[in-house]
Amino acid sequence: IKRIGVLTSGGDAPGMNAAIRAVVRAGLHHNLEVFGIYNGYQGLHADDIRPLERHSVSDVITRGGTFLGSARFPEFKEEKVREEAVENLKKHGIDALVVVGGDGSYMGAMRLTEMGFPCIGIPGTIDNDIAGTEFTIGFDTALNVAVEAIDRLRDTCSSHNRISVVEIMGRHCGDLTSSAAVAGGAEYVIVPEIAFDKDELIRQIHEGVAKGKKHAIVAICENVCDVNELAKEIQAATGRDTRATILGHIQRGGTPTAQDRIMASRMGARAVELLLEGYGGRCVGLQNNHIVHHDIIDSIKHLKRPFNEEMYQLSNTLF
Ligand code: ADP
Repeated sequence: IKRIGVLTSGGDAPGMNAAIRAVVRAGLHHNLEVFGIYNGYQGLHADDIRPLERHSVSDVITRGGTFLGSARFPEFKEEKVREEAVENLKKHGIDALVVVGGDGSYMGAMRLTEMGFPCIGIPGTIDNDIAGTEFTIGFDTALNVAVEAIDRLRDTCSSHNRISVVEIMGRHCGDLTSSAAVAGGAEYVIVPEIAFDKDELIRQIHEGVAKGKKHAIVAICENVCDVNELAKEIQAATGRDTRATILGHIQRGGTPTAQDRIMASRMGARAVELLLEGYGGRCVGLQNNHIVHHDIIDSIKHLKRPFNEEMYQLSNTLF
């Protein structure tokens, strides 16, 4: 192969820029030409494809988001649309593609590989919900944002004897919530993987208040319940002022942590090596601090992400 492309797709995540930079610099190191595809699969179809030089990725390692842009482009599920996209790649002489994104983006990469166009996936999402890797790019940064938010809420909660319900992202994966709960010392943690017993939660909080607890922090993953309603019910049951805070997209932004930058750099460089070794249809991951790679179809369809039970239990033990 002589020319490769790189794109970011799906929800953005801090550290995606570090991954793009690594693909570009590793590619150049191996005497490849590297093309940036802007706005994910949408740009691939619209031929928004430009060469990237060494300096194109200067100063991006510190920046959150993705300078290539990202887009949702459901039309990419249609074979005809993908064929037109592959035509664009061929027109530019691009032989292979690195896709940074979540499992939806992996599906696109898998489809292209099936059509004879080799792709390597890199896991980029704050949700940590991709199989075949212990961590996804952006998770650590989002975790630090969530922990800082919990710290701030704790200050004001303890001053006002208030109960705080904090909604944390993660889609249907509780990793971000349970890790933030442990690091932030939250009293209660609710994740999608464990059935939520609202009455039991309220009973426990009530018991804590009766024993003289001054404040409480409930860390809850998004998509479990309406947190504003939950706060109202806790307030009604305990008589304590209770507020819900939805951290939302704040968790998706900001300067990537050193850990995310390093992991993204390792994964980006490895993705290029895999293409040079003749691989396609693989996705890279981190396991036991080693960069590994799996069949992308296996990762989407067969590998199951184990629930981090230990982290969940720890947050309950240390409460
Ligand atoms: P994420 O990659 O973060 O999971 P999405 O699920 O929105 O985000 O997927 C990102 C993009 O990947 C979609 O907008 C679409 O362009 C492409 N994609 C998703 N699913 C498929 C599929 N089954 N076949 C082809 N492309 C897909």
